[in-house]
Amino acid sequence: MQKENVVIIGSGPAGLTAALYTARANLNPLVISGSQLGGQISITNEVENYPGFPEGTTGPELVDAMQKQAERFGARILIDEVTAVEFDAGSPFGIKTHSEEYESKAAIVCVGASPKRLDVPGEEEFIGRGVSFCATCDGFFFRDKDVVVVGGGDSALEEGLFLTRFANHVKIIHRRDELRAGEALKQRALKHEKISFLWDTVVDEIGGDGKVEKVLLRNVKTEETSEMATDGVFIFIGHFPNSGIFEGQLALDERGYLITDAHMRTSVPGVFAAGEIQDPIYRQIATSVGQGCGAAMMAERWLEEQE
Ligand code: NAP
Repeated sequence: MQKENVVIIGSGPAGLTAALYTARANLNPLVISGSQLGGQISITNEVENYPGFPEGTTGPELVDAMQKQAERFGARILIDEVTAVEFDAGSPFGIKTHSEEYESKAAIVCVGASPKRLDVPGEEEFIGRGVSFCATCDGFFFRDKDVVVVGGGDSALEEGLFLTRFANHVKIIHRRDELRAGEALKQRALKHEKISFLWDTVVDEIGGDGKVEKVLLRNVKTEETSEMATDGVFIFIGHFPNSGIFEGQLALDERGYLITDAHMRTSVPGVFAAGEIQDPIYRQIATSVGQGCGAAMMAERWLEEQE
């Protein structure tokens, strides 16, 4: 059993910031990365709204810089996944990964969120064969193809715009006739010559022979159904919190987000949380960074109080 001062679970902007701050506080933090080092931003192409980058940057570049900065002060980043935690008995907390068991005086949970699924026939079957949740990862495979994007929020529009670099045409399918996305992205997408919109429409089924070839559509106002040929279906309909392993250990809200107070404390003293796992509202890199910083400062203070 490896003993630690503070284990940070998750390595997105919140986790890497918590790592930087706890490392600078001489706590020798251990970050357990999760399945994707850097979390969601590692598969985000353009980042235009993180302050300090007037020309914008990319998700992978930002992750790389945050990781190097945390490591420079002694944070250890382990590529592994937490499979179970024992928080309810109090500190020291038990944390189990695929390869090791840890005992940690404090913990900071920054496990983020994952893309929501449509839950329609064909979706699961065609993942990697035309169904994708990541334009940055898979856009390249759709050069000169026709693709559909499902969703009407910032992600759908941002990723749809990115896909125009490769695809012949991008059809954005939205279940309402009004976009949720912010004004700047909305204007760019509405004006783009390679993008068109299908309003009040949902995808009921994804079909094909070995790979995506068509979608079955339904107009939610008229209930009329139709079929549309397509080579790819990119789904950006929001996220759900990755809180499964914390059920029964930490208080969750009705949507599965960890409940924290203004000091980033969870329901268990000594366990803090930051980023999208506890934030259904802002979900920005900038806010996750701020929350990660706050959680680290509170963890440091809490550890001091225990001595
Ligand atoms: P979101 O804002 O929750 O939007 C999800 C979209 O998917 C909505 O348009 C929603 O429709 C639609 N949707 C949800 N469930 C659906 C279903 N089952 N079938 C069909 N459509 C469905 O999620 P997001 O776009 O991923 O954005 C998440 C957060 O990140 C937001 O706060 C956003 O501002 C932020 N973000 C910001 C940027 C940026 O600033 N550049 C980029 C990406 C994300 P309704 O509109 O009808 O609910």
